[in-house]
Amino acid sequence: MPDDLFAVSGQRLVASLDHSRIADETLVRLRRPVSSVEVSIPVRMDDGSLAVFPGFRVRHDSTRGPAKGGVRFSAGVSRREVADLAFRMTFKAALLDLPFGGAKGGVTVDPGQLSPGELERLSRGWVGALADLLGPDRDIPAPDVATNEQVMGWMSDEFDKIRRAHLPAAFTGKPIALGGVPGRSSATSDGAFHVIRELGDELIGKESERTVAIQGFGNAGSQLASRLHEAGWKVVAVSDSSAAVLDEQGLDIPALRRHKDESGALAGPPSGTQIEGDELLALDVDLLVPAALGGAINEGNARDVRARAIVEVANGPVTPEADEILDSRGVEVIPDILANAGGVTVSWFEWVQNRQGDRWTARKTARRLEKRMVRETRRVAELSSERGIPLRTAAWVLALDRLAEAMEATGTESLFRNGGDQP
Ligand code: GLU
Repeated sequence: MPDDLFAVSGQRLVASLDHSRIADETLVRLRRPVSSVEVSIPVRMDDGSLAVFPGFRVRHDSTRGPAKGGVRFSAGVSRREVADLAFRMTFKAALLDLPFGGAKGGVTVDPGQLSPGELERLSRGWVGALADLLGPDRDIPAPDVATNEQVMGWMSDEFDKIRRAHLPAAFTGKPIALGGVPGRSSATSDGAFHVIRELGDELIGKESERTVAIQGFGNAGSQLASRLHEAGWKVVAVSDSSAAVLDEQGLDIPALRRHKDESGALAGPPSGTQIEGDELLALDVDLLVPAALGGAINEGNARDVRARAIVEVANGPVTPEADEILDSRGVEVIPDILANAGGVTVSWFEWVQNRQGDRWTARKTARRLEKRMVRETRRVAELSSERGIPLRTAAWVLALDRLAEAMEATGTESLFRNGGDQP
């Protein structure tokens, strides 16, 4: 089993314990994942050779419902990382009050090195190795880093073949033709946009001209750039793994997105000047949005941050050490479990529709997402100002209270508490 989960994301949890009424036994249960499985996935490569990739699925908790969380394909994936992300999913689902527990999966692979055929065989292989653990009432995967609706389409098809049944609710983030919902691919950025709009005045004042820098120009980062651009924000810098681009007057986001769609990377941008990736994090902007990988803002660079607020669109982009530094300098951080929860919220809508054999309009999905994001953002903001605690702590306290309530309602807690008195 992975080490004690409180070592990484758990630091956020520990910070919220002073503000939460929670039984010791609940904490003991949260400390370790319910299950943690590592498999080896053999894949026939195009050149005829056989490669074997390590694959993972960690279910952290299922008290509030079937476990939910994405699958990532990345060279850096480890069991430890997947367990940590599963832990965060439990809290993200609880914070948004979704009827889900938390899980995460992954494959240690550099997906850029694989052909489409190899990727398909790997995706199907992941499902083949883990099918016993998955299902609409058990554990429901979704896209994450470097996986998309095509990958979910392959996975869902493979699962149906194994189970000899049509089970679209077993995966979310599928292509629309296979039961996916319009709006799922923009759900993370849409959710982040609602959170920013809701908290913007409080965090950065009412200035008419607002500036933002976005690290990460993939699915969430590029779509958020468009939404902010359309809403009148000046997007002064964006970056991906190939380049970082700056224009103090505001970048032409539609042109940059066209360029990235056509060439596959930001490098050689049609407008703006190229800067170093580190410079982007240190720009004097109202809002800094890390939307790439975990650990981007850390002990080494947190002191350079000049933004007034940070929105964590990636999972875990600000380390606990950086949090302390930012806090002491008055930089507010909107935490990942709130800022990027739009994705799993629309996954919930997809799961509900698949189970009911229903299809909502794109408008209904968008409206319900906005309502849920605004409601929970307000709750986090109110708790934060009521108790004088950072937004992150407030978010973890709210999630923890919901989780504790469910865990205690299963009866185990009262059993433990009264245990000593029983004959
Ligand atoms: N991978 C996304 C996340 O980290 C979405 C998970 C889901 O939809 O289940 O929140």
